[in-house]
Amino acid sequence: MPPESEPIVCDALVLGGGPAGAGFALRATELGLRVVLVERHGYDTARPGEHIAGSARARLAALGVPAGLCRFSPGVLSFWHGAVPSFRSYAGGPGPPGFNADRARLDAALFAAAGLRGARTILGAMEHIAQQGTQWHAVVRRTADARVCRIRAMLVIDATGRRAAFLHSIGVARCRIGDQFALVTWIAPSPGLMEAGSPLMIGATRDSWWSLTDAGDGMLSLTVHASRGALRAAGATIAEALPLTLRQAPYLRERLRRLGAQIVGQAAYAVFPSRAEAMAGEGWLAVGDAAIAFDPISGLGFTKALETAERAAELAAAGPGASALRALYADALADQFETHLRRRADAYAEANDALARTIAA
Ligand SMILES: Cc1cc2nc3c(=O)[nH]c(=O)nc-3n(C[C@H](O)[C@H](O)[C@H](O)COP(=O)(O)OP(=O)(O)OC[C@H]3O[C@@H](n4cnc5c(N)ncnc54)[C@H](O)[C@@H]3O)c2cc1C
Repeated sequence: MPPESEPIVCDALVLGGGPAGAGFALRATELGLRVVLVERHGYDTARPGEHIAGSARARLAALGVPAGLCRFSPGVLSFWHGAVPSFRSYAGGPGPPGFNADRARLDAALFAAAGLRGARTILGAMEHIAQQGTQWHAVVRRTADARVCRIRAMLVIDATGRRAAFLHSIGVARCRIGDQFALVTWIAPSPGLMEAGSPLMIGATRDSWWSLTDAGDGMLSLTVHASRGALRAAGATIAEALPLTLRQAPYLRERLRRLGAQIVGQAAYAVFPSRAEAMAGEGWLAVGDAAIAFDPISGLGFTKALETAERAAELAAAGPGASALRALYADALADQFETHLRRRADAYAEANDALARTIAA
């Protein structure tokens, strides 16, 4: 298939169409930048991270995402410290209520909204990227028809999530804290048994913490978070994290039994906190998880992806000479990461003292 004849010339080439990439594209086009947004994997498979902090609601509405994709959650039912549940209602709480969303649909809606606002959106894979003078020259192969697009950009935005594919390609190292992973199991309760508007449930066992969330379309996602090392010491593999947790969490086991839940899919993810050693440089910026990735215990990953994207778009609009602003951007993100590490330690201590000892600092 011959390449498209003319290269696409833009101000910012965004790699990754998750909330950070799409959020950047939306804000940057609003600020008058020409943006190309490239998503490699598309939105056909389930994505984790369905319970979202209420502060993201207003942002999503401003970005043009249909309100129907966000379903209010009544609150959080926690089983920290063993089996005694405690319910924190969002009603009357200090901030807007948290909500649940089918993440693949929400991410797809953000990507589509970026296209509607004027970003050029491409589903495809990067084949080559190199800096020539002050410009980046990139080659992307479109998924739909295998055609090659040539792109020239002044700025590259790494929004590829924890893998930070672009940063990796230019040699930026990553700092990782601990060895936490998450095993996500998507389950379908028997028809009619799941109550609408059920709270987010979280709990801690000796070896793991878990969450049970409404994932949309009558599905639930059950996520078990554990340290690889601690699990190995307990003689279990990652795949065994779920049965081990169910043995240690009688309330969860009983709830799934009552729901007649059937497993429809499962995937494991690395979820330890990590950050790029550098988050901004000459002609590039990192946003969202590519810059700083939090432990999901914070429940803030989605919101932080949108926030960093917004800041980065404003920085991009300030032009290539804004090196002092770039340093401020990187410092602010580094501070957020440090704060997250402190709060994370407190959250684990609240969940279960034994579990707190399994997170490496
Ligand atoms: C198990 C789990 C549970 C979580 N739970 C929550 C939660 O309850 N609440 C919450 O707020 N957050 C949660 N998070 C975190 C949240 O999902 C992330 O922080 C958020 O999605 C980060 O957004 P992002 O756009 O930076 O990265 P991502 O969402 O990872 O998006 C990256 C995008 O880049 C694409 N991509 C990757 N490589 C390339 C490439 N080379 N070229 C082009 N595109 C590429 C990917 O397909 C993807 O679309 C959870 C995360 C995990 C793993």
